[in-house]
Amino acid sequence: MSSNESAPLTAPDCLFCRIVAGAVPATVVAQSSAAVAFRDIDPQAPLHVLVVPRDHHADVAQLAAADPALLAQVVSLAEQVASDESSGQFRLVFNTGPSAGQSVFHVHAHVLGGVELGRINA
Ligand code: 5GP
Repeated sequence: MSSNESAPLTAPDCLFCRIVAGAVPATVVAQSSAAVAFRDIDPQAPLHVLVVPRDHHADVAQLAAADPALLAQVVSLAEQVASDESSGQFRLVFNTGPSAGQSVFHVHAHVLGGVELGRINA
């Protein structure tokens, strides 16, 4: 079922599904029919917002495979938040897998900005 239908896909015991449902409090800064943007509880930059699809997908690779249009809606909401709250220039990070630092397995885009961000040196 997609988020355009009645009830979003959810997973039991998923923190971000619970935030989407309003069962866990969060500071929501923007939302659409498909996605919700809320402030990270431990911000790493002046602008640090998480954008999640209402539907549960574990990570960005699974989302891209299952519903690429929904991934585009996540990116679009991220751009909207960065334009509303900052210069419109932003870093978008999808940690994907534990070795990459993913700790919550409901796909989320970290929207980072509001400061001069250093180059990433891989
Ligand atoms: P990850 O490590 O999976 O890429 O990112 C998870 C993010 O979720 C972290 O930046 C962490 O600070 C944030 N986070 C964890 N628990 C909560 C919470 O209960 N509320 C909010 N708003 N953010 C959370």
